[in-house]
Amino acid sequence: MANQTYKCLNCGGELNWDPASQKLKCPYCGSEFDLSVFEQKEEKAKQDIRDKAYEKGASAEESGQTRSTDDTEVRPEDLRVYKCSVCGAEVITDKTTVATSCAFCGNPVILEENLDTQFHPDAIIPFRISREEIKGLYTQYLKSRPFTPRDFYTDAHIQKIKGIYVPFWLYDMPMEGQLHGTGERVSSYSDSNYIYTKHDVFEVEREGTLQIDSLPVDASSKMPDEAVDSIEPFDYKDLAPFKMAYMPGFFAERYDEDASFCSSRALKRAGQTTVEMLRGTVTGYSSVTVTGSSTGVQGGEKGVRSRYVLMPVYLLYTKYKGKDYLFSMNGQTGKAVGNVPIDGKRAALFWLIRFPIVLAAALLINLLIFA
Ligand SMILES: [Zn+2]
Ligand SMILES: [Zn+2]
Repeated sequence: MANQTYKCLNCGGELNWDPASQKLKCPYCGSEFDLSVFEQKEEKAKQDIRDKAYEKGASAEESGQTRSTDDTEVRPEDLRVYKCSVCGAEVITDKTTVATSCAFCGNPVILEENLDTQFHPDAIIPFRISREEIKGLYTQYLKSRPFTPRDFYTDAHIQKIKGIYVPFWLYDMPMEGQLHGTGERVSSYSDSNYIYTKHDVFEVEREGTLQIDSLPVDASSKMPDEAVDSIEPFDYKDLAPFKMAYMPGFFAERYDEDASFCSSRALKRAGQTTVEMLRGTVTGYSSVTVTGSSTGVQGGEKGVRSRYVLMPVYLLYTKYKGKDYLFSMNGQTGKAVGNVPIDGKRAALFWLIRFPIVLAAALLINLLIFA
């Protein structure tokens, strides 16, 4: 059977993914297990089945005893889908995690019984910052912003920070491109009567290929672009095959912009990079004018490879005095962005205290200068 839940080897409790240790942790007895422990167990189980089948003189496949133990095969009954009635955002989580409000707009979410489409990401960057750490980091972040109204952050509100795996497409594109233009070299010399300036103009042609790997495009229309762009980059060294073990306690937003829809954005960026690369090889001129360029994918659309990956993001949506505020943090690197309100009274008080001191200092300097 597909192994969806990981049980504690010491007490049998259901294990959670723990970002701090990058291990599966038992909330009941505190034991920690490396993912590889379970992979070895699965491998052992597979081997046992193969061995048994072999003893019986039949191949495992024929005997029908092997079932996939690959837990990237997600069973719909182990998942829950929550839908926001206001903005339409949909998040997927495991059956043990409960959502009450929308991470994108703060409105209540409704539990939808069935996951009607498939959910099988190719890869995931697991959360590195734990849900315990994020509360402290958020408070620190607010304290670094002067004049944040004190009632803007309450413990109850901080509890609403959600860890969301945001869907991205990663594109691999073998690019080709041409660039043409002119390059000019200027030199001068003189005799006793004149100074001569010589302009040599050259035709410049460049043609080349560039392999672009893992170009990210966010696949969610709900996620505000500036909130994602400013917390990039993600470090792909942590990119791992998707496993359900990374899900408990976190949400995954379902992508609503498919790979071919997003590929035009990727292609534009890849094209710009290719032109910049070609332009970078034109050296040795006093000035260069690019008159034209063209880029494309080698082998056309078939040359593009895309992967559906999930990236870890913490989100906190706040409505304060009729205005919307969104805080987002990279769940892998801790890079954060957001907007916070300013308490006018606290700001005024700050200057009331300091302004007389500044004024006195200025007067003193004046006195010293003109004395
Ligand atoms: Zn345990
Ligand atoms: Zn919403």
